[in-house]
Amino acid sequence: MPPQQQARRLDPDQMPSAIQVMEDDKRSRSGPFATSQKGLVPPLVTTPFVTQDQGNSGPRFVRSSMYSVPALPDMMKQTAVPFGLVISPFAQLEEGEQPPPVVDMGELGPVRCGRCKAYMCPFMQFIDGGRRFQCPFCKATSEVPSEYFQHLDHTGSRMDKYQRPELCLGSYEFVGTKDYCRNNVFPKPPAYIFVLDVSYNNVKSGLVHLLCQNIKSILQNLPRESVGGQKGGARVGFITYSKEVHFYNIKSSLAQPQMMVVGDVDDMFMPLLDGFLCDPVESENIIDQLMVQIPAMFADSRETETILGPAIKAGLEALKAAECVGKLLVFHSSLPIAEAPGRLKSRDERKLLGTEKEKTVLSPQTTFYNQLGQECAGFGCRVDLFVANNAFVDLATIGQVARLTGGQVYKYTYFQADLDGERLVEDVRRNVEQTVAFDSIMRVRTSTGVRPVDFYGHFFMSNTTDVETAGIDSDQAMTIEIKHDDKLTDEDGVYIQVAVLFTSPGGQRRLRIHNLGLSVCNQMADLYRSCDLDTVMNLLMKQSVTKLTESSPKQIKDGLINRSAQILACYRKNCASPSSPGQLILPECMKLLPLYINCLLNCDALSGGSDMSIDDRTFNMFAVQTMHVGASLAYLYPRLVPIVDAATAAGAPEQEDQQLLLLPSPVRCTVDKLRDDGVYCLDNGIHMFLWIGLSVSPEWIHGVFNTNSAAQIDIDRTKLLELDNPRSQEVRSVIGQLRSTRQRHMRLTLVRPRDKLEFVFRKFLVEDKHGDASSSYVDFLCHLHKEIRNLLN
Ligand SMILES: [Zn+2]
Repeated sequence: MPPQQQARRLDPDQMPSAIQVMEDDKRSRSGPFATSQKGLVPPLVTTPFVTQDQGNSGPRFVRSSMYSVPALPDMMKQTAVPFGLVISPFAQLEEGEQPPPVVDMGELGPVRCGRCKAYMCPFMQFIDGGRRFQCPFCKATSEVPSEYFQHLDHTGSRMDKYQRPELCLGSYEFVGTKDYCRNNVFPKPPAYIFVLDVSYNNVKSGLVHLLCQNIKSILQNLPRESVGGQKGGARVGFITYSKEVHFYNIKSSLAQPQMMVVGDVDDMFMPLLDGFLCDPVESENIIDQLMVQIPAMFADSRETETILGPAIKAGLEALKAAECVGKLLVFHSSLPIAEAPGRLKSRDERKLLGTEKEKTVLSPQTTFYNQLGQECAGFGCRVDLFVANNAFVDLATIGQVARLTGGQVYKYTYFQADLDGERLVEDVRRNVEQTVAFDSIMRVRTSTGVRPVDFYGHFFMSNTTDVETAGIDSDQAMTIEIKHDDKLTDEDGVYIQVAVLFTSPGGQRRLRIHNLGLSVCNQMADLYRSCDLDTVMNLLMKQSVTKLTESSPKQIKDGLINRSAQILACYRKNCASPSSPGQLILPECMKLLPLYINCLLNCDALSGGSDMSIDDRTFNMFAVQTMHVGASLAYLYPRLVPIVDAATAAGAPEQEDQQLLLLPSPVRCTVDKLRDDGVYCLDNGIHMFLWIGLSVSPEWIHGVFNTNSAAQIDIDRTKLLELDNPRSQEVRSVIGQLRSTRQRHMRLTLVRPRDKLEFVFRKFLVEDKHGDASSSYVDFLCHLHKEIRNLLN
């Protein structure tokens, strides 16, 4: 039957639904997830589960795109299913989950394989009466150090197996000895430096004032950790800049803060020997004074030309002078056009987006910020960019410094303190609180037959194996593609060990180790049964976005379509039971592949056209590179939650305890699911909309917006009124809960049918068709079906 005819017969409700898949998994797999065996497929990221670490790392730390790996590389190649890992080494845990315990081996340090240097883990096999152990990664045997010797029981396990985390858990930490430290010296606690652009734009928008006003509460979120009985307090420092750079002495013994100006920005140096970095508690009074003085000092600034490179360099020099690692939080407003290193030209050619030539504007215009980023990375200085711009700022160029140091990029277009203030302050607070590992090096070891080949995320690599990150936060993930190039056997399995050497917020050098064992299969069907599609999509998304600066968008999209057709055709040919050729047969674990591929083809990071700015497009590209699996899934398939249905609008019995309100279940992302008498919240982790139907009950509208009809709502507001009635409380509570599950604070956009902004909202209804260049889910499924049949014929 020709696909066109078939398309007409397809009922969208009969096609695989993401919501249904998530609901089914929630129903069958919620609750405890014990990691006792290799190759166990974890619950979906959207399912609430509690990991019980029984020898493999939990899926919050490491997710694999497959849990059963074909024995033969050829079979793997045939299926075209990508093999990759998404690693969030410092992921936040859920209630009931144990944080990885810290093991202190004293002077001895962690016990390691003599050949490949893998760390002691539950996969090591003890032999020779416990005197030697065999490493599953390289097969070499090493001697057990005498201090570490222990007898074996009748099963061949060490008697102390359950007393030692490194012998029975998937995730744990070791305290590093001097050998694990920079220059063999134990580190100082990392420092936080606020680098604030005080030129006209940032002053006028209210950003300078707002930030200074909130610094005190932000500093209370600095991670605190006591190490060896000593309180490990991070130190803080402040820099401001426009065309010059200003350092501040905030030593607690001073009567008031002192400012030092460096006018020669070509050769940045640190003018303050003492008093720049201080304990925020000891210097509280001086910092309070400084936060009043800075907005006053620059209130009349007319400076519109700014620098950027020298300001970042200033922060780096300050860390160098203090001999400690740390991070810079840079609040920048405009294209750095002042005469100074790192000066940029304007090149805002958004018409190139979506064309063959877009890579020219998505790549940096100079290598200056890449070099600066490498220099910062080399010293353990993470740079986070908070950009509040009114015009082109060339994020593709300046963002490199964040990318290479493990930093995040935040963007507040047309920032106004009254509208975006809460978002900025919440983002800064979370950023400060969640950055928990500094000056880190990650190494991924695998058993023979497979090996890591490509790495995606924000970091710097000076060789092919070590992933260097000046700072990692708990929201961040690295995605790694694994190559399978040699035969595997089932009794061996596939073993993966992720080791991250880092400096903790309290200044302790530690190693965090995650171990994961996967099964090996001889049947192709086992591979298709053990896939984690959300992880597959995370890898495909990061790969595609990375290719944007090399290939044309068309090549990348064609490649994605071909690959998904190949994955599904191979299943059809080798695993599915015989059926009529016109029938589309999808593997259970991958039945949403067509949907998610279509979402990927149309997402802002990959497809943002000239209706968005180049900076917005690059912002999306940076944002996706650090996403963990939960974040990438939401980015591809937004969450659409009905806030009110006709029943509650008409005055259903009200909840007694608003705190215990359960989140409503999401619905499919299509306009077909929107009711004119409904209100819906949609978010993808970056944007959040509240869509208000025009026939919503007047009582509800009045309760939430204090107006008489939807038409009268002031949609320029970004915050809901805080009214003292159950409806207002309910909707604010739901939005608060939805927000708290995401890593960025999303601004709320109100939208009604036929409002100017409705087309932006509609773009995120990802099952629908948007413009000529995109397909609806139904159309894409038919197109893919045709491609699959072509491959099978
Ligand atoms: Zn080894």
